[in-house]
Amino acid sequence: MRLILLGAPGAGKGTVAKMLTAIDGSVQISTGDILRGAVRDGTDLGKEAKGYMNSGALVPDELILNIMGERLLEDDCKSGFLLDGFPRTIPQADALGEMLTKLGITLDGAVNLDVPRDVILDRLTTRRTCSNSECQAIYNVKSMPSKVDGVCDKCGSPTIQRDDETEEAITKRLETFNEQTAPLVGYYEGKGNLINVNATSSDAVVEAIQSAIK
Ligand code: AMP
Repeated sequence: MRLILLGAPGAGKGTVAKMLTAIDGSVQISTGDILRGAVRDGTDLGKEAKGYMNSGALVPDELILNIMGERLLEDDCKSGFLLDGFPRTIPQADALGEMLTKLGITLDGAVNLDVPRDVILDRLTTRRTCSNSECQAIYNVKSMPSKVDGVCDKCGSPTIQRDDETEEAITKRLETFNEQTAPLVGYYEGKGNLINVNATSSDAVVEAIQSAIK
């Protein structure tokens, strides 16, 4: 599969991407995970990105495009990829289009995960993420808790509430999404590439995506 996953923070892009990778061996590429890893490792990229991320703003396009330009060349992308959190602006989408054309890659589509705002707010405030930057498994204290409270099932590291999941940062992230990322739905619709999915349960979303790209 070669898909873009579009949707507001908390729409379920990460969870659905992880489920899809298990189906056909495509790799999940999450720019948010890459950036959080860089912040934790204290790299130059992490130092530059941290302030934007914690305030709920987008990291500058140039930084993201440098990351993605290299990431898409890696060998594991050959068996397919699920872009989770990229592109997030029209210039990023234009740049991605150019990268894929150069690589001779055609997308199966851009999936729009359309989830109501109240569901999103509830999910974001109850989400917990594994603090191990190599793992970053996602849990939800209500719907998908880890077996031991506060401990990742997969790697045993502590699970945490992300710095950008305070109420203030969440509000800003949703505003940023509406202003800068939501226009991508029309962008991909115009290219005849859009797959709209309204389901909220991850299983139903995965099923809808599979039948749309058959
Ligand atoms: P996410 O985990 O996808 O919600 O991303 C967390 C944060 O990382 C976002 O709020 C942005 O600050 C930053 N980020 C992730 N992906 C991008 C992107 N494609 N463009 C700009 N900033 C991004």
